[in-house]
Amino acid sequence: MTSWQPEFHYPALLCRYSEIGIKGENRMFFEERLLASLQRQLASLGPLRFTHDRGRIFVFPETKDSFTPADLHTLRREIPRIAGVASLSPGFALPPALPEIEKCLQKIFPHIVQAGRDKFPGRPLTYALQARRSDKSFPLNCVDIERYFAELLLPGYPDLTLDLRHAEIVIEVEVRKDIAFVSCERINGPGGLPCGSSGRVLALLSGGFDSPVACFQMMRRGCLVDFLTFHSAPFTPPATITKVCRLVRRLNEFQPRGRLVSINLLPLQLAIRDACQSRYRTVLYRRSMLRLGAVLAEYFQDQAIVTGDNLGQVASQTLANLSVIAQASNILVLRPLLAYDKINIMNMAQDIGTYDISRENVPDSCTVFATNNPATRAKLDNIKREEQKIPMRELLLKCLDSANLINAKNCQEYPFPELKNYGQNMQNLLMCEIW
Ligand code: ATP
Ligand code: MG
Repeated sequence: MTSWQPEFHYPALLCRYSEIGIKGENRMFFEERLLASLQRQLASLGPLRFTHDRGRIFVFPETKDSFTPADLHTLRREIPRIAGVASLSPGFALPPALPEIEKCLQKIFPHIVQAGRDKFPGRPLTYALQARRSDKSFPLNCVDIERYFAELLLPGYPDLTLDLRHAEIVIEVEVRKDIAFVSCERINGPGGLPCGSSGRVLALLSGGFDSPVACFQMMRRGCLVDFLTFHSAPFTPPATITKVCRLVRRLNEFQPRGRLVSINLLPLQLAIRDACQSRYRTVLYRRSMLRLGAVLAEYFQDQAIVTGDNLGQVASQTLANLSVIAQASNILVLRPLLAYDKINIMNMAQDIGTYDISRENVPDSCTVFATNNPATRAKLDNIKREEQKIPMRELLLKCLDSANLINAKNCQEYPFPELKNYGQNMQNLLMCEIW
């Protein structure tokens, strides 16, 4: 269903969630997280009252009779951003009795049809009424309800034809024990699990297409995501950072604000360029990034690192190289996009609104001193030998020393000396001493 539906002053909302329903004992925990998300993302609707009923959350305005058309616009914008929501319908909550449902439908149906005629002028419209009955004591079953209202409503509208699969006008009637709910619009949410229900992770965020999508995938599975980006100033311009800030702003629309940290990788890159075989450069950069990420993840108490790696996309993302990279640290590394096709990733980037930012051509840290003969099957022994040519630990600490905490809203940067102090005490995590 699209959003050409008439903008009634709806007195209630019906929120559907699918996966949380199978969480058994944890269900309460997931539902509470979902309510917190709804409350936070829909704050502009004013105070809300929630009631639960097996797999459904009903939402009512606390200080007004109904939601306004402006509220409806907010819902259409925000619901696709709220992880855990399967869909939400604004609608009419009624006592669960046939005459009440009939009265409501008689009142709203002409307006819905008119809105359909305005949207698709001069041609017949397709229509479906879909009934759902969880209270088996209700006198009519689903098919009876659908037939009853089709016979009641359709005769007055010769331009309507029934199409149960692809109808333009879809009216849903849901009858439960204590409530009946009538709606004509379904706003799809992203599904998945509610924000924060799976813990925290740290994403390695570049300005490319993949990593923002990887962040979104983790958010949809209930993770709160912090962000770490690497730059190579002065070899990369300030625009490298501002681009990432804009990506983070977009991604933070799906969660309470995730923190953004930048680290200058240049000291390591220069040393690698000058001392190591050029074909191993990217793998060596990546192993360094992972070690630095592991320090920040532990400092932030993020439980895993997330990357936008995609199998076979570039030389650093062969199985052999991913394996060598992963062995630079013992932190859990998650790669939600590993098996996706690029075209799917691009489509997802469009959907979540990061595509237009990612496509801007701004230099990235990874391409600094890039070679055109990268190793596609690096061996751990060779890589360790290369790393022994440079003072890895000192260089990592030098990079940590450059860390800045960034306010993504205004791109303001703040020194972050705690990180170096923290890293200094993490010999094991840097994995430089146990070769
Ligand atoms: P993306 O993969 O996001 O399109 P990309 O193509 O520039 O960006 P790749 O070379 O594919 O990056 O790198 C694989 C992954 O390594 C990225 O998805 C990201 O998680 C991480 N990464 C690469 N460059 C950076 C960077 N400058 N800062 C932080 N993480 C980075
Ligand atoms: Mg990539």
